[in-house]
Amino acid sequence: MGRRLAGEHPVEADLVMPTPESGTPAAIGYAEASGIPFGHGLVKNAYVGRTFIAPSQTIRQLGIRLKLNPLRDVIKGKRLIVVDDSIVRGNTQRALVRMLREAGAAEVHVRISSPPVRWPCFYGIDFATRAELIATGLDTDSIRASIGADSLGYISEDSMVAATEQDPSALCTACFSGSYPIELPAEDQLGKDVLELQFPVREGADPTDVGTLDVEGVAPSAALGGSDAVRRP
Ligand code: SF4
Repeated sequence: MGRRLAGEHPVEADLVMPTPESGTPAAIGYAEASGIPFGHGLVKNAYVGRTFIAPSQTIRQLGIRLKLNPLRDVIKGKRLIVVDDSIVRGNTQRALVRMLREAGAAEVHVRISSPPVRWPCFYGIDFATRAELIATGLDTDSIRASIGADSLGYISEDSMVAATEQDPSALCTACFSGSYPIELPAEDQLGKDVLELQFPVREGADPTDVGTLDVEGVAPSAALGGSDAVRRP
């Protein structure tokens, strides 16, 4: 994907660097295809949790600055290509671009090894709502301006799928295309809180009573631990 991304969105630069760790494989491919040296301009603090799942915007943004630390000697005066695997809300990339400029980067070009994420996932990935996805309402240049980058390039859906060397009909691309391979349930049954809504926590509820949830014909033969996990606030 990184090699194809370099072919689709070339730019003159001094260093290709990943957003650790999500951008590393594609950044290596981008560097190989472009001939621009690969390097690490950011180090990740392994003791700060995932910002993507932090409960509020403020905590997420603070978390990004705590989590990623710029290596000034590597960055200063360089034209950087920063590669990541996706942009969801845009907060990570915005904080990152700012951090890199503060550390002395001459230019920051962002390259993304997936197409714009415009649709929610209903298949188990903990995702932002559609309104929170930055690509829902903005075109690529507006996203570039929003995150403060000098340029922004996403791999095309065709290239991403081709890079997998899989039959396209075997792949889900719903969060990019809006085309869901499995029919979705009614609107009020959608969302990442669906299990909590199916199993509201009641005072004095019997934790072995798992209700009547039946997902795709699979009956909820949840054992004691399973039902407890679903009910636990
Ligand atoms: S590709 Fe499909 S399963 Fe994967 S995150 Fe996107 S919508 Fe969910």
